[in-house]
Amino acid sequence: MFAALAAARAGARVVLLDKNVVGRGGASIMAQMTCAAALGAAEPDSPELHLKDTIGAGRGLCNEDLSALLCEGSPQRIRELEGWKVNWARQENGKINQVKAPGHGRKRCVYVDFLSTGAAICAALRNKVSRHSNIRRLSNVTLTDVVTHHGESVGAVGFDVATSMPVLIKASAVILALGGMTKVFRRTTSPNNLAGEGIGIALRAGARLIDMEFLQFYPNGHLAPRMVGLDPTTWEPTRVKLGGRLVNGDGEEFLHKYGEAQEGGYSTARDTLTYAIYKEVEAGRGSPHGGVYLSFRHLDESALAAALGPVIDIFKRNNIDLTRQAVEVSPIAHYQMGGVEVTTSMETSVPGLYAAGELAGGANGANRLSGNALPEALVFGERAGEQAAQFTSRKRIPEWEQAVAEEQIEPIRGTRGRNAGRGPSPALLMSELKELMWRKAGPFRTAGDLADALERIRTMREYGLQAAAVSAESIHNTTLVEWFELRSGLYAAEALALSALNRPESRGAHQRSDFPQTRAECEINQRVWLESGKLVSNFATKAEQTARAARA
Ligand SMILES: Cc1cc2nc3c(=O)[nH]c(=O)nc-3n(C[C@H](O)[C@H](O)[C@H](O)COP(=O)(O)OP(=O)(O)OC[C@H]3O[C@@H](n4cnc5c(N)ncnc54)[C@H](O)[C@@H]3O)c2cc1C
Repeated sequence: MFAALAAARAGARVVLLDKNVVGRGGASIMAQMTCAAALGAAEPDSPELHLKDTIGAGRGLCNEDLSALLCEGSPQRIRELEGWKVNWARQENGKINQVKAPGHGRKRCVYVDFLSTGAAICAALRNKVSRHSNIRRLSNVTLTDVVTHHGESVGAVGFDVATSMPVLIKASAVILALGGMTKVFRRTTSPNNLAGEGIGIALRAGARLIDMEFLQFYPNGHLAPRMVGLDPTTWEPTRVKLGGRLVNGDGEEFLHKYGEAQEGGYSTARDTLTYAIYKEVEAGRGSPHGGVYLSFRHLDESALAAALGPVIDIFKRNNIDLTRQAVEVSPIAHYQMGGVEVTTSMETSVPGLYAAGELAGGANGANRLSGNALPEALVFGERAGEQAAQFTSRKRIPEWEQAVAEEQIEPIRGTRGRNAGRGPSPALLMSELKELMWRKAGPFRTAGDLADALERIRTMREYGLQAAAVSAESIHNTTLVEWFELRSGLYAAEALALSALNRPESRGAHQRSDFPQTRAECEINQRVWLESGKLVSNFATKAEQTARAARA
């Protein structure tokens, strides 16, 4: 939505499409609390300090130009949203309130309230988007491919979910902001529609990916008891805010054994927390459901009620009494650090094709700081929109015959009704992929597991997709939507497994049990692209990286 607004205010005519209702799908609306911006409202701060923390967390692999763009651009976007009626929480002196989140050296994170920061941002953006006469919204249209002609992006193809009819859009620039890929893991914090389609679409259009092996696992994802009405991400802000204690199955606090656990571990970055929890479980010191305990039992009811407000009622409705019981938590797939490689103009390696938000890789390196993803979506969205509008102002809307897009349209027509009533459903194959990725390419990896995963994913991509049963129904054909999710999800999963197999070390969110050390010679980025239908990967040396940056 920010990309659409920025392009529209720069004079471009914009079509904004989403396979859900525009502005109501995806992770942004679910984001709970933290949004990092060096406003300096709670204590002295600067974009330079924010950048230093971001690069530190990225374990040597950040594209520092992108990280700088994120940290420098965030305060402006927060102020702009304030003008659009996002009601940032305030201190008593009337200034915006800022809190410290893990890995940040300063009180830097703004929020609306404990649970609905993302919803408030999305509401403001929906309002702006709906009032801009240059923006045409298309809800419930699934994007399936970008159309390229002579190596340039000239439009996009998808289908209307309500009728299964193909939709063709001629456009002199295309911005992909399709979010992450965590649907391909069994346990995920994200909504069900984020299957890495942006990765598959970008690859097929000829774009390069970067750092795909780095996928963040949220350390304290809810595990047990059953909890309805709150996201699995509830516990991290609660833990930090109230001083919750992480305890293993033997009743012992354990974070101090894993290095960076000062201040009770409340400043420990996510990769280290995930590592610590996993290692406790692996050593046989886990909780009954295979995680660890998070305990608030040292707090009394009035302290909890004062800090949690109405959230305490939701816990009560779930029969969770935090004064008497600890909950079980364990890592859960949350966010992809890698993604489509972009320049600081958000342009991919295909002219006219841009990527923004979580889909764009590089700004967070091997590990993302809490609160850096929302500003990334806002800042990179704004930049992509503005740059794409500049690009289009130099060009005419491309004229092309439908035949140019035939290769992209054919799968839409050809897949509906294929093997109907026979063969496995796309949903069944997706659940196999989710289990495979969870077991073989999760927080801890080995060469053997990754090779197994890669082999099975390639088989699924080559044969499974063709064998899948897709209903012939034209009205709201969910199996058709799921087939396209699976098609791109398999590309995303393969790119991740291939990159993880090729990185012989442990760094940030990529942990190899067979290579437990971080290796100085591996402080280089890895790229993946599609060549004659096959994914290939390549590490750039430092010298090549510097030369590429100089050329850019
Ligand atoms: C539960 C949860 C809590 C979080 N909390 C925080 C937080 O407190 N702070 C923070 O900084 N970050 C947080 N994050 C991360 C952050 O929300 C995301 O990284 C960020 O919002 C991504 O924004 P985006 O615009 O790139 O993608 P999204 O907001 O995910 O939007 C992607 C959009 O693309 C659409 N789409 C996908 N595929 C297709 C297709 N084929 N065709 C058409 N449309 C498609 C989707 O429907 C969706 O609307 C959280 C994430 C989750 C899941």
